Amino acid sequence: RSTNLREMVKICCIGAGYVGGPTMAVIALKCPDIQVVVVDISVPRITAWNSDQLPIYEPGLDDVVKQCRGKNLFFSTDVEKHVCEADIVFVSVNTPTKTRGLGAGKAADLTYWESAARMIADVSKSDKIVVEKSTVPVKTAEAIEKILTHNSKGINFQILSNPEFLAEGTAIEDLFKPDRVLIGGRETPGGQKAIQTLKNVYAHWVPEENIITTNLWSAELSKLAANAFLAQRISSVNAMSALCEATGANVSQVAYAVGKDTRIGPKFLNASVGFGGSCFQKDILNLVYICECNGLPEVAEYWKQVIKINDYQKSRFVNRVVASMFNTVSNKKIAILGFAFKKDTGDTRETPAIDVCKGLLGDKACVSIYDPQVTEDQIRRDLTLNKFEWDHPFHVQRPMSPTTVKQVTVVWDAYAATKDAHAICILTEWDEFKTLDYKRIYDNMQKPAFIFDGRNVVDIEKLREIGFIVYSIGKPLDA
Ligand code: NAD
Repeated sequence: RSTNLREMVKICCIGAGYVGGPTMAVIALKCPDIQVVVVDISVPRITAWNSDQLPIYEPGLDDVVKQCRGKNLFFSTDVEKHVCEADIVFVSVNTPTKTRGLGAGKAADLTYWESAARMIADVSKSDKIVVEKSTVPVKTAEAIEKILTHNSKGINFQILSNPEFLAEGTAIEDLFKPDRVLIGGRETPGGQKAIQTLKNVYAHWVPEENIITTNLWSAELSKLAANAFLAQRISSVNAMSALCEATGANVSQVAYAVGKDTRIGPKFLNASVGFGGSCFQKDILNLVYICECNGLPEVAEYWKQVIKINDYQKSRFVNRVVASMFNTVSNKKIAILGFAFKKDTGDTRETPAIDVCKGLLGDKACVSIYDPQVTEDQIRRDLTLNKFEWDHPFHVQRPMSPTTVKQVTVVWDAYAATKDAHAICILTEWDEFKTLDYKRIYDNMQKPAFIFDGRNVVDIEKLREIGFIVYSIGKPLDA
């Protein structure tokens, strides 16, 4: 029995967030022969993972966690103990943009990563594979290796890069059927053996042809490149949406025609108020910084444009709202439907709703916000946060004054949000916004009643028939 236990691979994941939690839950589900412990320094997070109210909303996640928690999936704050016992240590801590010092506003802040690496080096008593799960700048593994080997007391550490490609809102689906699993490692015998060990974990459910192995730097850079390409597609279609509005073309028709080209493909071509989430902007800024550090300012400039168009799209939306409402929204109630950065998540990190609300509040509007998954506390914190000032004017945001705070109400129903409102802004593509009783909403609004659809979810013609004045991104304007 003891031999079996010794042979059972033990995984520990540092960081029980949007990536660490779901990823490890799926590994535990698919690999009953592996013990998985997810550790975090945040007590409330771990308490929530051990309760019926998981700390993140993700379709299908509750079910996966319920099936394995207490069997081969555990959540703990005892970070050092579980790292010490593990054969494979995933590190899935946050890697936000640095807010001060060298590289501020662009470079990735690797403080959390470095402290995790130092802790691994300090507590380890046996050989370990350390896996970069977080998105990190290319060449991070080199730095981590230095930290680990410097303190290693003869322990063998192999570093792998295994970036995560899941998308929030579809995380479980993405983890069950990944387009690919990417594993990068050293081209030494030890590195190749470590790659094989991690491959064996994924091989429990991922077809072999979908597991790609590369060198460390290719794997690290591929994650940044993938996010940059995805964000670039959104900025491309959003740039086209502005041109559509200026010319009478319809962005949905243009995107459909363009996406029919098999070299381009139809996915990820929805025009919107802009991309958000904790990754796209952060990873592009990181890429920009790496390019600049490597003497490639032209390449850096190229990627910066993706963010500039995204900022432009958000400010363009706010300007459209204010201009349409007779150039002032002062004291007008505006209903904000959706605050999360996309549907099927409660995540509001970098959501365009923050910029749009701040823009409208800056023009003295009163906003009434409804999102099915976002709490009032989260919204108030997001709107009060003093965001880092970058070199683009739209990023210069101040904390809200006490008067501005009074201009924000958070409600738990779309009908309450829209009652007596002058306008509605749809900022997240929640399915329920497609099927609201818009006639009832119209009857309870001030007239003229405006809808600004930042996600192209509503049926423009039907709403115009009801009496709404409708603006939808990249669509011909109301007569
Ligand atoms: P998150 O903020 O939700 O989770 C990170 C967790 O790490 C937090 O709970 C934090 O308390 C914990 N942590 C930090 N330092 C720690 C330490 N020293 N010891 C123990 N715990 C520690 O972040 P996330 O969204 O899960 O992202 C994690 C990484 O994955 C980031 O690099 C991100 O870029 C990348 N990523 C995110 C997504 C996504 O959709 N969110 C997708 C792919 C990749």
